[in-house]
Amino acid sequence: MKKNPSGLFEDGIEHLVNQISATTNTSTIPAVTINEVNDQSKTDAEIQMIKKCLDDDKFWESEKVIQAYKPFKTEYCFHENILLRGTKIVMPTALRSKVLSLSHEGHPGRDNMKRLLRAYAWWPKIDVDVTEYVKQCHGCALVTVTNIPEPLKMRSFPTTPWNDIAIDFCGPMPNNIYLLVIIDYYSRFKEVIAMEKITSRIHNRTTSEVVFSPRTT
Ligand SMILES: [Zn+2]
Repeated sequence: MKKNPSGLFEDGIEHLVNQISATTNTSTIPAVTINEVNDQSKTDAEIQMIKKCLDDDKFWESEKVIQAYKPFKTEYCFHENILLRGTKIVMPTALRSKVLSLSHEGHPGRDNMKRLLRAYAWWPKIDVDVTEYVKQCHGCALVTVTNIPEPLKMRSFPTTPWNDIAIDFCGPMPNNIYLLVIIDYYSRFKEVIAMEKITSRIHNRTTSEVVFSPRTT
């Protein structure tokens, strides 16, 4: 019995591909069959490139697509035309979107989908593709809990003037002056003070002068 680089024996691979076939057949979306994977792998540019690399025992650094495969070069083997990385099928490019759809049945969420998919398939940037797929899914977007803003609450009405106030700056104005606007919530009275500088020291002093100045109202 011939042992391949992934450490699996030929009959082990046979068992694995049958298992994968059974997994994908349970879906309501037309399953990806092993024959389909086999046929697509035969004409897949990436897989054929890796086949050549393995045959030549040389992974060309210059090819960007090969760079993504190179770190795992000791894990590959072929079963007929199907490229395996360890116990996972390297999915041909043409079948990746179908496999993503199959793994997204029931909207399992990004992390579960990655787990499901990684159980039997691999390709470079598989995680990026899953993340993008989930991001684009309208169904997932509908059930995703978004940040719901806190409901607006009514403020209790102040009982005395200048006890509850709003303070903000307006500006800079065209002449580089800032306007310090102070509003008393009780009377709705507004104080507007023009300021050339808005350092915290000046701001605190000015605000104190306005708020604590003696008033008859
Ligand atoms: Zn979804």
